[in-house]
Amino acid sequence: MARVYNFSAGPAMLPNAVIERAQAEMLDWHGTGMSIMEVSHRGKDYSAVAAKAEADLRELMGIPSNYKVLFLQGGASLQFAMIPLNLAQPGDTVDYFNTGVWSEKAIKEAKRFCNVNVVATNTHEIPAEKEWQLSADAKYVHYTPNETIGGLEFQSIPNVGDKILVADMSSTILSRPVDVTKFGLIYAGAQKNIGPAGLTIVIVREDLLGKARAGTPTMLDYKVAADNDSMYNTPATYAWYMAGLVFEWLKEVGGLGAMAEINKRKAEKLYAAIASSNSFYANPVKPSDRSWMNVPFTLKDSTLDAAFLTESAAAGLTSLKGHKIVGGMRASIYNAMPEAGVDALIHFMADFARRYG
Ligand SMILES: *Cc1c(COP(=O)(O)O)cnc(C)c1O
Repeated sequence: MARVYNFSAGPAMLPNAVIERAQAEMLDWHGTGMSIMEVSHRGKDYSAVAAKAEADLRELMGIPSNYKVLFLQGGASLQFAMIPLNLAQPGDTVDYFNTGVWSEKAIKEAKRFCNVNVVATNTHEIPAEKEWQLSADAKYVHYTPNETIGGLEFQSIPNVGDKILVADMSSTILSRPVDVTKFGLIYAGAQKNIGPAGLTIVIVREDLLGKARAGTPTMLDYKVAADNDSMYNTPATYAWYMAGLVFEWLKEVGGLGAMAEINKRKAEKLYAAIASSNSFYANPVKPSDRSWMNVPFTLKDSTLDAAFLTESAAAGLTSLKGHKIVGGMRASIYNAMPEAGVDALIHFMADFARRYG
């Protein structure tokens, strides 16, 4: 069976080259007579893989030496708690932008630990800077650069002065170059743009370590993870290895600058197809704030949704059903989605509109 173009928001497509390499190494990894899943995470063979993955990520993102890169578990969702536990004390105020579902989840969790001030709320366009209500004493400012469900993306890094900026980059990390020095902490669940589920990457400035509040569980203290090279306990060894293969693939593609050009082109042509559909398809987000990674769109007549999904799947274009709170469709077009997949989707959409419009 041929591989399909999988538009799932996550777990998402992985590059064919990565899957093929993993397959080739599966039964006998580096002459060990074992798969990499079966070797010790403390052995020198595995340590080399882990270190290479970190070095490649540092190179790709230009991560300075005063930042730690952590390979954790628990998903981006556990970071919603780890961030306030590590960066704020009980009673402290923290600032959060609310631009959609993932912002809201982060806010809800942070409220268990801190006073949360919402800087601005808008799910269809990035709130204008003059509307921001930043608090004077916030311990950090949190935002979601790309809202995976709503398809809303900050096209530049918000200027929060000398405040510590924290970003949930789960669905945008590695899609374009980013100036890491602007951030105190960046985190991302792996299953969108990094590798398989089960791994969470945290990039944190060293001076923010060692300040976890009293009572923070050992496993949730960034400093413990950093001091133990993310191996205080057994890490997600296979996901870490797979992430390393994805980083090597990204370097071969030409790095994040090259990836950004491809991603921009993919997104622009898909939005253009929606715009030129005579309102058969629509996207609710302000054009300048549309996501490069997640493209939600509705059909003018929602009774056609079922036919759209059945016929697109039959054409090898899968997982296009939108999130239930937005409805309609969503095409997630992360790094691993080839441009040919986007072209195939555009072709299908035009044909469908012609037949049902
Ligand atoms: C998917 C996603 C999450 C949740 O990630 P988990 O790894 O499942 O916890 C959080 N934030 C954003 C922006 C996401 O896209």
